[in-house]
Amino acid sequence: MPSEEVLCKGLVERIGSKEAFLQYKTDKVNLEETLEIKTHKKGLQLISALLVDSEKGIVGESNEIQIIGHRVVHGGTTFSAPTLVTPFVKDRIKELFALAPLHNPHNWEGLDLAEEIFPQAKQVAVFDTAFHQTLPLKAKKYAIPNHLFEEHKIQVYGFHGISHQYVSKKSIDHLKKPKSKIICIHLGNGCSMTAVVDGVSVDHSLGFTPANGLIMGSRSGDIDHSIIFYLVETLGYELKEVNRMLLKDSGMMGLTGFNDLRDVQAAAENGDLASDLALEMNAYRIKKYIGAYAAAMNGLDAIVFTAGIGENSSELRKRVCNGMDYLGIRMDEQENEIRKEGIHEIHTPDSPVKILVVPTNEELEIAKQSFQLVSLIGQ
Ligand code: ADP
Repeated sequence: MPSEEVLCKGLVERIGSKEAFLQYKTDKVNLEETLEIKTHKKGLQLISALLVDSEKGIVGESNEIQIIGHRVVHGGTTFSAPTLVTPFVKDRIKELFALAPLHNPHNWEGLDLAEEIFPQAKQVAVFDTAFHQTLPLKAKKYAIPNHLFEEHKIQVYGFHGISHQYVSKKSIDHLKKPKSKIICIHLGNGCSMTAVVDGVSVDHSLGFTPANGLIMGSRSGDIDHSIIFYLVETLGYELKEVNRMLLKDSGMMGLTGFNDLRDVQAAAENGDLASDLALEMNAYRIKKYIGAYAAAMNGLDAIVFTAGIGENSSELRKRVCNGMDYLGIRMDEQENEIRKEGIHEIHTPDSPVKILVVPTNEELEIAKQSFQLVSLIGQ
C-alpha cells in the first residue's frame, strides 16, 4: 500500500480437521496443500512462516509487516469506523460476542493471535457493520417497544458492509455517477442486499444478526417469527434446536439438502424439482427486495451482483432479472453467460437500469481502510 500491489494471497480452510487446506500464491509460488491444521494459531503460524521463508517468502522478516487489517463482523453501536486495536478495543469486541456468536469470537481470536505472532505490527479492526451506520431510523428500528431500542440497542445493524462499500464505490466510479441509486446484491454463503443512495447505505436486508432477509446457503432469511413459538410450544422443539435449524439446516440446505449453489443448480439441471423450486424461491426473494428498495429510493440506476454466487451464477442472475421490465431492468441473456474479469455490464443497450457484475474484494477494502487509518494517526 498505497499502490494496491498484491505481493501474495492465500487462505487456510477447514481448520480443526485432518484435511485442512492451505493455499499460498505469489508471482513465483503456487502452493496448495491438504494437511492437518488443528487450531487457528497453527494456521496463522504456517502463514507467517511462509511470508518470511527464504525461497517462498515475500518479506525478509515478519517485523517488516507494519499493519494487519482484520475483518470483524459485529461492531455494534460502539464502532462506526476502522479502529486501532488496543486492550480496551478488544474488550469491547468481546462484549459483542452475544450479537454475533458465529463470527466475533473467531475474529477476536484472530486479533489476539496476530498480536502474538506479529508483535511489531499495528492491528486494525474493520467492521462489517460500519457501512450501515448511516441507515435512517425508519430503516434501522424494529416496531417493538421503544425501550428495547433505547436500552438494549435492539436494531438493524447490517452486515457484509466491507463488501457493499467496496462494490458500491466501484459501481459509482464505473457509472461515473456520484449521485445515484444502486442496489448491491451480495450472494455468498451469507446473502444480503443494500440500497445505496449517493454512496451511502440507506437500507439493508440483514438485521440485528446476519439471519434476516434473503434465502442463504443454510440460513432461512425472513420467516414469520411465530413459527419459532409454534415449534417450541406446540411441536416440542428445544429453543437451541430451533436456532440451530434456522441458521444451519435451513435456506438452500433445508430446501434441497445442498448448501452450495453449484450442487443445487446441478440437481435442478438433472430434473430435481425441489432444487428447481429452491432456485426460484431464492430469486423471487431477491426480486421482492429489489422492488422494495426501488420504492424506498424512489428510483433505480443500477443493480449490482457480487460475491461467490452473484459473480458466478448466471442462472440465478437470469432468474432474478426475468420479468423485471416494469422496473426497467432488461438483461442481455447472452452477455450474462459470458465470464469476464473485472466489472461486467450484462444489461441490454436500451435498459434504463444498468445490471453489473462487480467482483468484490474485501481484503483490498480492509487494506485500504487500515492503511488510511494508520497514515492518519502517523501524521
Ligand atoms: P463467503 O460468504 O463465505 O465469502 P463466497 O462469496 O466465496 O462465500 O461464496 C461462496 C458460495 O458461492 C459457494 O457456497 C457457492 O454456493 C457459490 N459459488 C461459487 N462458485 C459458484 C459457481 N460457479 N456457480 C454457482 N455458485 C457458485
